[in-house]
Amino acid sequence: MKHIINLVRLLFLGIFIFLLVVGKNILWFGVFGLSLILAVVFGRLYCGYACPMNTLMLPTDWIAKKLNIQTDKMPKWLSSGKFGWVTLIGSIAIMILSKRVLHKNIPILLIWIVVAILITLRYKTAVFHNLICPFGVLQKTFGKFAIFSERVDKSECIGCKKCEKVCPSTAITVNKSDKKAEIKTSLCFQCTNCVQVCPTDCIHYSRNK
Ligand code: SF4
Ligand code: SF4
Repeated sequence: MKHIINLVRLLFLGIFIFLLVVGKNILWFGVFGLSLILAVVFGRLYCGYACPMNTLMLPTDWIAKKLNIQTDKMPKWLSSGKFGWVTLIGSIAIMILSKRVLHKNIPILLIWIVVAILITLRYKTAVFHNLICPFGVLQKTFGKFAIFSERVDKSECIGCKKCEKVCPSTAITVNKSDKKAEIKTSLCFQCTNCVQVCPTDCIHYSRNK
């Protein structure tokens, strides 16, 4: 399962690099637009499988952990959760201005990949995914309505928190009061990390009831 997921990620990364090399990287926005529609039905599959930033953040996160340079803290000024909208509007403004003034398409995705890697060297992946990423803010908005998503069968959950530890976006948390895990669909990448570690096999991709 893990290998297949990684292969899919590499395939999308290959497509992204190909479009970049042939100067058609603007087409990637078509992939992203389509993924927003899909997110309403199937959840944030783009973030978990197609996003080049996420794919490159995974090895970056591994390296940062090995080097012990990551902190658990989060910059306080990001805590409102609104900064993603600022980066989204800023990115659109930069793209329009560069086209109008410089008559060039600025490689905004490439710039964000570099930013994502640098931030992941210092902070947990959830900081970039949930609080900074301009694409994530839209995925979050559409993914909130996902009809299908990973969900926890609470009757089987033993509250061990193994799922929490492997979630890249803090989408799954164990409730303090009932000690049962719950998934926030708007944050879930459908990456199945939690499914793979759950000792009671109580997380399943299923329809919203
Ligand atoms: S890993 Fe499974 S059993 Fe443990 S808290 Fe998460 S959902 Fe519950
Ligand atoms: S680990 Fe589970 S809850 Fe977290 S993003 Fe992946 S599928 Fe969603």
